[in-house]
Amino acid sequence: MRVLLVGGGGREHALALGLVRDPGVSALIAAPGNPGIAEVAELRAVTATDPAAVAALAVETAADLVVIGPEAPLVAGVADAVRAKGIAVFGPSGAAAQLEGSKAFAKDVMTAAGVPTARAYVCTDEESTARALDEFGAPYVVKDDGLAAGKGVVVTDDRSAALAHAAECGRVVVEEFLAGPEVSLFVVTDGEAALPLLPAQDFKRLGDGDAGPNTGGMGAYAPLPWAPTGLVDDVLRDVVHPTLAELRRRGTPFAGLLYVGLAMTAAGPRVIEFNARFGDPETQVVLALLETPLGGLLHAAATGTLAEHPPLCWRDGAAVTVVLASAGYPAAPRTGDVITGADRPGIIHAGTARRAGDGALLSAGGRVLCGTATGPDLAAARDAAYALVDGVKLAGSQHRTDIAAAAIDGRITIPS
Ligand code: AMP
Repeated sequence: MRVLLVGGGGREHALALGLVRDPGVSALIAAPGNPGIAEVAELRAVTATDPAAVAALAVETAADLVVIGPEAPLVAGVADAVRAKGIAVFGPSGAAAQLEGSKAFAKDVMTAAGVPTARAYVCTDEESTARALDEFGAPYVVKDDGLAAGKGVVVTDDRSAALAHAAECGRVVVEEFLAGPEVSLFVVTDGEAALPLLPAQDFKRLGDGDAGPNTGGMGAYAPLPWAPTGLVDDVLRDVVHPTLAELRRRGTPFAGLLYVGLAMTAAGPRVIEFNARFGDPETQVVLALLETPLGGLLHAAATGTLAEHPPLCWRDGAAVTVVLASAGYPAAPRTGDVITGADRPGIIHAGTARRAGDGALLSAGGRVLCGTATGPDLAAARDAAYALVDGVKLAGSQHRTDIAAAAIDGRITIPS
């Protein structure tokens, strides 16, 4: 099977490593890819959000399967254009990707499907925003309605900061604060059948102890030793299947990766958000533990044959990934700094580039790379991931020092 992978971040590097481990994958082409992906795939240039360009590349490269990593191409309808060429594609249609593309649409689907989530109002002016903020009280949660690369959400005790964010965004969802540890659950689906992957946890805030601004994600680990037994089955029953059924009912079935972001509240799991693709950096840890061949799994979802797919196999132990971000991230990431020490297995590239001429590795984005390691338990995986990151030199870089620490120390509790 020839696979075309669309995207060029850490998630796509992790997907690329998973795909080339699959003996059923005979060739991997990535567009646009990154210097890490270049080690395992042929790179092609493409504007990932241009449906006609990606579809033409899929035809030209004789792809049997196209895997779309990021959300922007999905929302732009790239999967539709590829499917129209008769090529199997892992990723939902533009209409179904609205589950991520619009927070208001996602809330509407959840309400119709009876999915447990935060109470919310869609607000477009200061008066309705203020009313919603006052009804829910602090901490205030204000979400940009549109795609914002994981950075459109403000959670704050400062009412004027909440109002200012709403004014900047225009159309927002204001919702009640959900207290409790968060879980990321990835579900591979063909629209009807659904196979859950291992639950993971990511770290959204920039600083240790969840201080500082929200980011795209600063690290992740899996599995979750503190997760209640039966969590995944409960979420499949109460969230995933009702949501898939509602989207089928609307004539826009969701096939691809349904990412369920949950808060484990005193009242049970509540959906914080849906995404229409693999999460970054949770993908790095989840795929590090997956033994089932990835290409075959994604192909089954893309071709409506997931019900016949064998159960997933996982390796024992745990995985941890630690993100190394550039100076100034997330507000104003500095790029163009030289990176050394990154040429080791387990280093996954996100925002990197090769300098023309000498080929030196440079930072080229906010989240630059991450160190991903597995081990017999979380503590061993954590130590190995930090050893990887500690070996990388990048001027002014930032990383959290407490990834997986609370789970290892048994400090995560679900409110009761
Ligand atoms: P989202 O983009 O919706 O995932 O939001 C980004 C982050 O903001 C989440 O991972 C949570 O940490 C936080 N967040 C979003 N919505 C809520 C909520 N209703 N209650 C508490 N935290 C939230």
